[in-house]
Amino acid sequence: MAQQTMPSLARRALGTASSAPVRLADLATTMQRQGIDVIDLSAGRASESTPGFVVRAATQAMLAGDTHQTMARGRPEYREACARKLARENAIEADPETSILATLGCKQGLMLSLLAVLDPGDEVIIEDPCFVSYQPTVELVGGVPVAVPLRPETGFRWAARDLEAAVTERTKAILFCSPQNPTGAVHSAEDLDAIAAVAVEHDLFVISDEIYERVTWGGRRHISIATRPAMRERNLALMGLTKSFSMGGWRIGFVFGPEPVISAMVTLQQHLITSAGAFTQIGAAAALADPPPPEVTALWCDWERRCEFVASELDRMPGVSCRPPEGGYYAWADISGTGFSSEELAERLLRDYHVAVVPGRAFGPHGEGYLRITCVKSWDILQEAVSRLRDALSHPG
Ligand code: PMP
Repeated sequence: MAQQTMPSLARRALGTASSAPVRLADLATTMQRQGIDVIDLSAGRASESTPGFVVRAATQAMLAGDTHQTMARGRPEYREACARKLARENAIEADPETSILATLGCKQGLMLSLLAVLDPGDEVIIEDPCFVSYQPTVELVGGVPVAVPLRPETGFRWAARDLEAAVTERTKAILFCSPQNPTGAVHSAEDLDAIAAVAVEHDLFVISDEIYERVTWGGRRHISIATRPAMRERNLALMGLTKSFSMGGWRIGFVFGPEPVISAMVTLQQHLITSAGAFTQIGAAAALADPPPPEVTALWCDWERRCEFVASELDRMPGVSCRPPEGGYYAWADISGTGFSSEELAERLLRDYHVAVVPGRAFGPHGEGYLRITCVKSWDILQEAVSRLRDALSHPG
């Protein structure tokens, strides 16, 4: 009798590492369900829920029967709201008919962008450390990620020389994030110009992950690379509401880019998911159509204070140094003085002190020696987390 075994899985599935933040957040949820008082500072999820006016807009749409698929590129009202937001906040004039595509969040925008621009074997320059999903997503679509280090000496920006040296005949795109996850760097116009110069010189696409654009600190402002010269025809901007409007569970975002690329992505979208959600687009349109109301901007200000609090507390702990992030909502703590690897320390913190954080190594080899800690939890949670972390680091071994 034939042996009863399952057919083998695809190499691409077996060869894909898990997302450390998502895996750790799932583990923290499982531990909480077992009655363990875990504080989850792993994934980038704020304590606050989506603002009421956004929830109401989506709920009303759903109750009014707005429950069908939309145009593959997204509802006109949503794309118009995205275009208004781009004009108001990013100094970008975008045609909602041709240059905007509604996506299931930034992650899906990234996948579609890569599917649209990469042929198998094409190389994509990524940061090291970078968002954990860049390398797997590039590989899943048949591309080859080429990591270029971000070093503390350059404020976690690429050194122009390193970037230039990474370009080969197979390079097709540069993928970067600002405000950066995990380091919190916010790129200046000069930083962006240095990236743009390499892209123009070597005729590359530039995929910019701008998901943290609204959360910049210390008076800094996010600049979209699309506003730099010669970028409009080669930049795909990944935008989302997951972070700024606490809409991670809605799975909604958009991509802004040149008409031929967006058009190719629309065709792919028709097959992959048909369209982003009907009522989630209505909620997102409400969030983006007008300047954010005071309840939202006040929350962002409070997030800045929480980031400063966590970073300054960490900075005072034995073996740790940590500067407040320039943007985004993570503390990127240098733990090299503790004597632990990032994975050892993160494991110890979860096991013995019930605090879930992400080991820096998960973001790339140059993330070793760091922990990424989410700062946008409520003040009560942060006070307790800081006290547990202080306890852990004061009792090494
Ligand atoms: N890009 C970066 C840099 C992120 O940190 C995240 C979320 N952690 C995402 C994309 C995913 O965004 P979305 O929820 O919109 O898919």
